[in-house]
Amino acid sequence: MKKQTTFKMDRRDSVWFQENSAHVNAAYAKEVCDVAILPLGAIEQHGGHCPCGMDTYNAIGIAEKVGLATGAMVLACPMYGSHPYHHWGMPGTIPLTFETHIGLVMDIIRGAAVCGFNKFIIISAHGQVSSTIVAVHKLGIEGLFTISSTWYDFLRDNKTVLEDYMWHADEAETSVGLYLYPDMINMDLAEAGGGEGLIDGSWKVAPGEASLPGMLYHFEGTFALPEKDDLETGVIGDPTKATREKGEKLIEGVVGYYARLIEEIKSKYAVGINPLGFRNPTGYNTTADISYDKDHDAKGRLK
Ligand SMILES: [Zn+2]
Repeated sequence: MKKQTTFKMDRRDSVWFQENSAHVNAAYAKEVCDVAILPLGAIEQHGGHCPCGMDTYNAIGIAEKVGLATGAMVLACPMYGSHPYHHWGMPGTIPLTFETHIGLVMDIIRGAAVCGFNKFIIISAHGQVSSTIVAVHKLGIEGLFTISSTWYDFLRDNKTVLEDYMWHADEAETSVGLYLYPDMINMDLAEAGGGEGLIDGSWKVAPGEASLPGMLYHFEGTFALPEKDDLETGVIGDPTKATREKGEKLIEGVVGYYARLIEEIKSKYAVGINPLGFRNPTGYNTTADISYDKDHDAKGRLK
């Protein structure tokens, strides 16, 4: 790590918010780039071959690459996340309640907005849309422009890189781990696994799979029994098919999509512009009184 500096030549000391001084972060948001990325992961069992922090390490690794590629600032990543119902009770998984996680995400983004950031991209590496999507819409009411994403939204790899669709601690996630932090993955302990499911698997779109008519997002139901009873190995899929090369291809593609998204936001909304055009910190009860800022007309169109 480097020593702190004063803000010179439009340079930040680090892509990570927590490694810069407050002065540098505020000046960077005001003068260079006001896009902030919030990486989100989870502490969750990932079989015998991967660490419980896998999703958090994946989020950190992807977010750092996107921040370096685009100039977006990366906010410190909370280690813990929220979890669908069937993860609860699984040893090695430490879920936050939905309310805690929604509050956590909202507080971090509100705090970064105080420092001058106006555009927020959540990069989650764990299935937790049950809290992140709620947080996004609550933040929207407050006038905070936020996009919630899970890295595999940008994957849609229908077996061009992977042999199988992505699930959990499997070929996909293990490949990403082998690429980003190989020292923590023990392939000698990798073994295939999977659960039964309560309805036929063809109704569900796998994480990162391009969907077809009649396929439900895998968060839209209580599709399985609790993992503690349903899973033998803590794995869904076959991690023995994982390679570092697959991980590199997946991550390179995903980072490229994020970079395109952020470049579009930056080119459409210059530094200092809030795309929503208003701030409404008191929340829902005052939404009828929203008035737009100096950059937008009375109908919220960018001037
Ligand atoms: Zn995972």
